[in-house]
Amino acid sequence: MKHVIIGNGIAGVCAAEAIRILDATADITMIGDETFPPYSRPMISHVLDGSQPHSKLPIRSDHFYDELKITPLLGQRASAIDVDNKQVHLADGTRVNFERLLIATGADPRPLKAEGLDLKNIFYMRTQDHVKQQVAALDGARRAVVLGGGLVGFKAAYGLLKRGLEVTMLITSGYPLSMQVDQTAGHMILDELVHHGLKVEVGVSACAFEGNGSVQVAVTDAGTRLPCDMVIVGKGVLPARTFIPKDRIDLDLGVVVDDHLQTSAPDIYAAGDVAESVDIARACRWVNALWPEAASQGRVAGLNMAGRPVAYPGSLSRNVMRVFGLDVLTVGNANPQEDAGCRVVETGGADKKYYRHLVLKDDILVGVVMINRIEQGGVLRSLIENRIPIRLPPEILITPGFNFGRLLS
Ligand SMILES: Cc1cc2nc3c(=O)[nH]c(=O)nc-3n(C[C@H](O)[C@H](O)[C@H](O)COP(=O)(O)OP(=O)(O)OC[C@H]3O[C@@H](n4cnc5c(N)ncnc54)[C@H](O)[C@@H]3O)c2cc1C
Repeated sequence: MKHVIIGNGIAGVCAAEAIRILDATADITMIGDETFPPYSRPMISHVLDGSQPHSKLPIRSDHFYDELKITPLLGQRASAIDVDNKQVHLADGTRVNFERLLIATGADPRPLKAEGLDLKNIFYMRTQDHVKQQVAALDGARRAVVLGGGLVGFKAAYGLLKRGLEVTMLITSGYPLSMQVDQTAGHMILDELVHHGLKVEVGVSACAFEGNGSVQVAVTDAGTRLPCDMVIVGKGVLPARTFIPKDRIDLDLGVVVDDHLQTSAPDIYAAGDVAESVDIARACRWVNALWPEAASQGRVAGLNMAGRPVAYPGSLSRNVMRVFGLDVLTVGNANPQEDAGCRVVETGGADKKYYRHLVLKDDILVGVVMINRIEQGGVLRSLIENRIPIRLPPEILITPGFNFGRLLS
């Protein structure tokens, strides 16, 4: 069987490993436009904040491709898929035949529309090349502007603050991480960042950059001029799917997959940030662009490609992070729309220095945010993952130290 995998991120790597476990002789080709060995993308934020060296980024040995008998086509970009002839077209004109194909191309930073983007020291934050350039730009930098309050913008701001820069964050929502946490938690996180020196402007973005070769000023759409030596753009990501023929493979925001991670075209699968599967908490299709989901989707796709039918249970947003003095845990849909018919139960708050917030739809737990008292977060996550009906008053669940054995009695 000839397997081709486009993308050598965690989804592609886990798929190749799963195929090789089941089939020692399968022909596996991986196409990737990055040439660095497979690496941890989330960890680039730790390289930026100085807690990890660049050399810690790889997640597999230098001999990964040889050891797994994979043919790597690195530094190569897939430009099209010919579904009928089962071929991937590469940008240099080469055609690669496949019997089973995995699209694992991840996501690209959402492009910013602004004048002056060609100035030096304005960066996106997605690749190890980006972070290498950012770290080089730190030398002599005093002031930075970060655009976006999502996971990447937030991590960029945190990293630059830790490096001792004066950082201004521009966010369109009222607080950072608004996709992950509710307003109370968001403001606790914001206060912690502000306490450590972050400046924040809400409801604005940058519309232009000025400078003399390198960026010197970010101009906001509210008319403010912010002097800066570097800018990091972290305004979300978009699934990397522009080369996929939309008349042959169903696309929505991402590449639509079924519960075996197969696309609408036979023998073509998708996994990771590019794939749109069912979200367990939201009970609808969703792109959860997260590392553990990309890894498990890659594994499941690889097993299916190698001929072992395995159903994917659905994806779930989850994260645990440390923000200076706060431990933050989020799972599922913690911030549902007002008309979603959800019930919220919470305890604690900024004055108590901890916070617990649960979201229930009928008697099913669908979202959790915890700050500081994050113990038992794993049990709550498993209640969401397994859609276990909560028969007790949910207020009991947020009491720190609650005996979860009572759920089973
Ligand atoms: C700064 C940062 C912090 C993050 N923090 C967290 C976190 O705390 N927790 C968490 O769960 N997730 C986090 N993430 C998200 C996580 O990194 C992604 O969900 C994960 O890397 C997705 O893996 P993937 O294999 O689907 O895609 P990717 O890692 O994007 O890999 C896809 C690969 O395919 C290549 N490619 C794309 N198009 C083509 C093409 N046409 N031809 C050839 N190659 C192509 C890309 O260049 C890339 O190398 C973070 C991401 C960033 C950037």
